[in-house]
Amino acid sequence: MSVPQDQLEATQVALVVHIALTQAEPGCLSFEVWPSAENPLIFHVKEAFIDGEAFADHQARAGASPWGQLTQGFAREYQTSGLDLSASADETFMHQALQLADHASEAGEVPVGAVLVRDGQVMGQGFNQPISGLDPTAHAEIIALRQAAQLHNNYRLPGSTLYVTIEPCLMCVGALIHARVARVVFGALEPKAGAVLSHPCLESYPSNHRFAVTPGVLGEICGQRMSRFFAARR
Ligand SMILES: [Zn+2]
Repeated sequence: MSVPQDQLEATQVALVVHIALTQAEPGCLSFEVWPSAENPLIFHVKEAFIDGEAFADHQARAGASPWGQLTQGFAREYQTSGLDLSASADETFMHQALQLADHASEAGEVPVGAVLVRDGQVMGQGFNQPISGLDPTAHAEIIALRQAAQLHNNYRLPGSTLYVTIEPCLMCVGALIHARVARVVFGALEPKAGAVLSHPCLESYPSNHRFAVTPGVLGEICGQRMSRFFAARR
C-alpha cells in the first residue's frame, strides 16, 4: 500500500502492533509487511491464512483497528497464499467489498462497495460517494476502476474481475466494457437500476467486449446492507 509522507511515522508505529496482532490471529499462517526497495512510501503485504473465512475475519478486525483507520482509503497491494482461492476467492473479495460498502453508509451514502482484482491481487477499490463528492459518476465501481487504471498506468484492465455488492447500473456497465473487465461478480440484484440481469442492456449493444457474470455472491448480506440503510433513513 502507498502511504503519504506525513502519515509515514504514525503508520510505522501502528504497523508493529498490527503485525503482532495479525500473527496471533486464529487461521493466520503467516503475515509480513515490508517497504518497497524503490519507494519507502509503498508497503508490500504478504499474507497466508488457512481459508477465506479466516482471511475475512482478519480483514474485518484489521479494518476496525487503528491500523485500518489510519490506512483507510490507501491503495493496497496484497500477495496472498495459503487461501483456498478456487472455492472462496469470490466470497473473500466480496467481504472486502462489503467493508467498503460500510464506509459509504457511515458517510450517509448508499452502501455499495467494489474491489477490482487480477491474479488474486487487489488493483483498486472504491465505495459509493456521489453526494459527498458532488459527483454523479462517483459510484463504487468507477472509483475502483479509476484507482486501478492509475496504479497500473493503463486505461484498460483486461483479465480483471470486479466484485461489487450490488448489481451495477447502466453507467457502470458502460465503464466496465470500456475498461475491458473480464468478469463481474455481484452480491444482490438491484431490481430498479441494475443493468446486468435486472434490465440487461448489453444484448442489443454492439460492442465486441463482453464480461462474464457471477451473481448472488453473499447476496443476502449485501441486500441486507441496503435494506438496513434505507430503513434507518425512513
Ligand atoms: Zn453505477
